[in-house]
Amino acid sequence: MKALVYHGPGKKAVEDRPKPEIAAPTDAIVEMVKTTICGTDLHILKGDVPTCEPGRILGHEGIGVVDKVGAAVTAFRPGDRVIVSCISSCGKCDYCRRGMYSHCVNGGWILGNKIDGTQAEFVRIPFADTSLYHIPAGLEEDALVMLSDILPTGFECGVLNGKVQPGSTIAIVGAGPIGLAALLTAQFYSPAEIIMIDLDDNRLQLSTRFGATAVINNKDGKAVEKIMKMTGNRGVDTAIEAVGVPASFITCEDIVAPGGTIANIGVHGVKADLHLERLWDRNIAITTRLVDTVTTPMLLKTVQSQKIDPRNLITHRFKFDRILDAYDTFGAAAKTNALKVLIEA
Ligand SMILES: [Zn+2]
Ligand SMILES: [Zn+2]
Repeated sequence: MKALVYHGPGKKAVEDRPKPEIAAPTDAIVEMVKTTICGTDLHILKGDVPTCEPGRILGHEGIGVVDKVGAAVTAFRPGDRVIVSCISSCGKCDYCRRGMYSHCVNGGWILGNKIDGTQAEFVRIPFADTSLYHIPAGLEEDALVMLSDILPTGFECGVLNGKVQPGSTIAIVGAGPIGLAALLTAQFYSPAEIIMIDLDDNRLQLSTRFGATAVINNKDGKAVEKIMKMTGNRGVDTAIEAVGVPASFITCEDIVAPGGTIANIGVHGVKADLHLERLWDRNIAITTRLVDTVTTPMLLKTVQSQKIDPRNLITHRFKFDRILDAYDTFGAAAKTNALKVLIEA
């Protein structure tokens, strides 16, 4: 089968690989139908993720059809259409029993990281019963690719951890796919104001279409000043960090109101300053989280009932044999205006 293989920092190739086999009775083999590229894949390609070793097939998102199941798999049969979760969950360890699948001692984020991932014709999914989700018949499948990772990530790490509430004021720093996923799902709670901050006018325009009440281009570095003005010098109740660089985290520190929450989503590669000398008396909370994907079944229902339509996040489509072009397009998002690139079998 064809697969996109990581070969160390800056190196990747499409290669022929043997089709994966069932290795444990709880495994399933899934034939991939649609997959996508995550910002995290670009981090891997930069060499930022040392757990991902050369030779690894990348990818942790997508939908497919079950090809084979191990003897212990009871919830899925060959032919079932499924969403692959970016997090593998054994369902049995202490963390899984607490709903913290991201830290499953037998799984967690292993797909396309510690084990071969979804950017291939077939993928082996460990703990299939608790790591795959059935696709209800008749559902528009493009949108469901967003349920593997970005929707639960934006919702759990940004909206839930950020305690977004009816009437509250929130700011999302970063209008990439994850920030936009937070924007879409924050609206479940009817916040009064959602302010999006980015450096890219195209992404900010899209944010307005997705429900932002105000957008700020921070090219002039005045986002903090503008937000304080917009909020009567109070700041925001929830500041969601959706970039993963020190400057955007510090912006969140600068705009959080007393009693507010900074919810970090971004993957940080270097340290960011924590200004406790300004924050110690402001009753704020700072949260971090790796997505658990515990909300995937709930989010699936909101897509099914069209409360949210994440299809609008898809900007480009490629056949699998053009996956290298898909990487080029996604990697040059500032030029290509790419958000999510869909890669189809
Ligand atoms: Zn991802
Ligand atoms: Zn577990």
